[in-house]
Order: sequence, then C-alpha cells, then structure tokens
Amino acid sequence: MSPFILYSDGNGNIFEDTSLYATGRSGWDALPIPEDEWIELPEGGNLYELPGRRGIGIDVETGEMRLCEKGWAVAAFIPPAHTGLYMAAYETAPDAPTLPLFCYTAAGWLDDQFYVPAVRIEQDIRQECAGYDEEEIASGAAHLLKTYPNNRLVQHLMNNCCNTYHCPAARNLSLGRWECPVPSSPACNANCIGCISFQPLEETIVSTQDRLTFKPTPEEIVEFTVPHLETAPFPIISFGQGCEGEPLLMWEAIRDAIVEIRKHTLKGSININTNGSKPDAVRALCEAGLNSIRVSTNSAREKIYTPYYRPNNYVFEDLAESLKIVRSYGGWTSINYFVFPGMTDSVEEYEALRKLIRDTGLCMIQWRNFNIDPDWYMGKIGVTETGECMGLKQMMELIHEEFPNLKFGYFNPSMERIKGNFENDFAHW
Ligand code: SF4
Repeated sequence: MSPFILYSDGNGNIFEDTSLYATGRSGWDALPIPEDEWIELPEGGNLYELPGRRGIGIDVETGEMRLCEKGWAVAAFIPPAHTGLYMAAYETAPDAPTLPLFCYTAAGWLDDQFYVPAVRIEQDIRQECAGYDEEEIASGAAHLLKTYPNNRLVQHLMNNCCNTYHCPAARNLSLGRWECPVPSSPACNANCIGCISFQPLEETIVSTQDRLTFKPTPEEIVEFTVPHLETAPFPIISFGQGCEGEPLLMWEAIRDAIVEIRKHTLKGSININTNGSKPDAVRALCEAGLNSIRVSTNSAREKIYTPYYRPNNYVFEDLAESLKIVRSYGGWTSINYFVFPGMTDSVEEYEALRKLIRDTGLCMIQWRNFNIDPDWYMGKIGVTETGECMGLKQMMELIHEEFPNLKFGYFNPSMERIKGNFENDFAHW
C-alpha cells in the first residue's frame, strides 16, 4: 500500500491526510511512486514544512490527483549515503518564499512510520548520525585547538566547521578518523546558482556556511594532515570543501603541501573535490602525488551545466579533461553528481552520462541529492520541458549493467577501498 500524504499546520506540527496517497515530483510533474521504491525514513533524516506550497496527492477513493488543502506541503531531508528518487510534489503559490539550500525528497506516512522514495547508495558509515558523540567531539576539538594554537586552518575547522556548522567531515577530524577536510581557497572561478558558501545579496536565500577568508600556507596544511594520515583509520585528506571557493585556484600551495606530506607519510589517500576547471593544475597535482579527484556537476550536458555553474575562464569540456588526466596517472576518479529527479533521469542526460563514463574511464559516481529549491533551480536555468524520463532507479540499473566496474556511492573512498574489494553497494539492493 502507498503511504499517505503529509501536511503541516504551519507551526511545525505534521499530520497525515488519509484521503490522499503521497506522490513524487519529477521535473515539473507529479507522479505516482511505485510501492517498492519507498523505504522508511532513515535515522538522521528530517521533515520540513514548505510554506506557500500545497501538497499534491492521489485521492484514495477516485484515484484522481488533487491538492491537500489541509495545510502546507511537507518534504524530507534524507541523510547522507541515501539518494532520493522523487522530490516532494506540490503547487507553489505566487508569493511563496524561495526554499533554502536543502534537498526536498517526497515523504509519506504508513503504519506509524515516515517513508521516503530513496535508496541506500553507500554502505560506508562515516556520516551516520549515530556515530557522533558530542562529548568526544568537544574534547577532540579542544585537543586539536590546543595542539595547533597558531594554525589558522585548524582554528577555522574546529571553531567554525566543527563547533558551529557541525560539518560531519570536520567532526570526524576532531575524532581522529576517516576523511579530513582541508579547505584552502577564499575565491572561486564559478558562480553556481546554489552555491553553499556564497550567495549574492540580492538573493533571498543565504549560503549555509561562510567562505574561508584566508589562504592557508603549505606548512599550515601539512602540520595537521600528516598526523591524521599517520594515525586515522581509513585515512583520507580532502581538499575542496563546502566552506571555500575552488581549490584549484590554490594549486601551487596544494602541490607544495602534497610534496611535503608525501615526504613524511605514504599512508592514506590525498583527494581533491573540485569543479575540475583547470586540467593543467590537476596534472601538476598528480605529478606531486594526488591520489583521487571528485569533480562536481549538476549534469553531463553542457547546456544544463553552464547556466547553473556560470563559469569564469573555463569551459564544460575541462571537467572531462581533468578526469582523464587523473586516470592517466592511475588515480581514482569520481563525479559528485547532483541528482535532480526529472533532469538526471532524462533520456538525454542518460546518453550524455554514458558518453562521459566511456570517454573518461570514470571509476565512481557519487549520487548526491541536489540541495536546492526545485522551482527556483529550473526557473534560473530556464528549463520548462525536461523531455522523456526513465526513473532514477531504472537509470542506475542500466548504468550498472553497462558499466559493472563503475562504483556507486556517496563518499570519497579510502585507499583501502580503492585498492581492496570495493564491493559495489548497488549489488546490495
Ligand atoms: S564551484 Fe563551489 S564554491 Fe564555486 S560557486 Fe560553485 S558551489 Fe560555490
């Protein structure tokens, strides 16, 4: 049986309407959701009320689609490691406020449980909310601040990222485990509509964190990353974080840091999360010892990419070139693929993605939920018609069938996984 639609009273109280089954949004359309695509809302998930929006449901009696007039629409923010298959379906009033930079997955209620149409795409537990002990984090952060009193980067990571933004990666650093974030760039050569570290004043929404305000030195980077690589389980250090601009604009400092790091330790993976805009800089980092790259994109199609990223002095083709270069050095390559139901699973996008995988020898797709107001996004990039769509689950299955060695996930893999039996979590479905 399909879950019932949810609505809110506008005061943060959420109710089910048992006269309507929940539907899902794909592009501009509201669709019924196949029963086998619902899962219980995973631990760490949240529910949002969507002001100025009425949910669209299917009448349990007539089977007709109609609005839920009882209150505002409701959506789910699903936790990392899960990919949403449909967004919340609703009708937006003309004066409705733009929604902040979160993902808005469909949600429903059945048998005393909240449900979402999603898949667990990654078994790695590095951002499971159950794994974060507040006391251990507080003492770990205090220890790092005391150990590196003059290191501006450690001060930023612990005071801002860990203790203020509660960034999961910075919290893992305070706990001395897994992936360590290394932001480095106050500037960016793109102007993404949904940038999470910088939003123009004229926009009504705000960025979820402030951008770094200084340029760390190679010495500041090396000082805390070498001990992390030496002592952390499944150690990774990752340049390119949500609290900065584009790290490739700091490639010389990053190159010098990598060279110095590798003089002290060969452990772990050195990764860069980037917009992939500077292939020559990527080559220099590979020469220095970069192990892995993750290139972010909202699409494998230039016509969808460019109006969103609004790049300065680089072009869409540079992304593929950066991926190819890392592969040519034997490095691991991922795309940070912003999943938007109705765009990502369009036939045109599927064909473009197949070409990108073939052309670059891509190792992994990180199927990430796109944290953006759907109406605002499609309006800003001028998409009125998304074309024929196949459904995200079917698209994932087709890609998996054609490229069985291509890994699916949500996080940058450790060297142990890259070199080990990187079981494809997709197989767990
Ligand atoms: S590439 Fe990153 S930092 Fe630059 S504008 Fe886009 S989201 Fe913001």
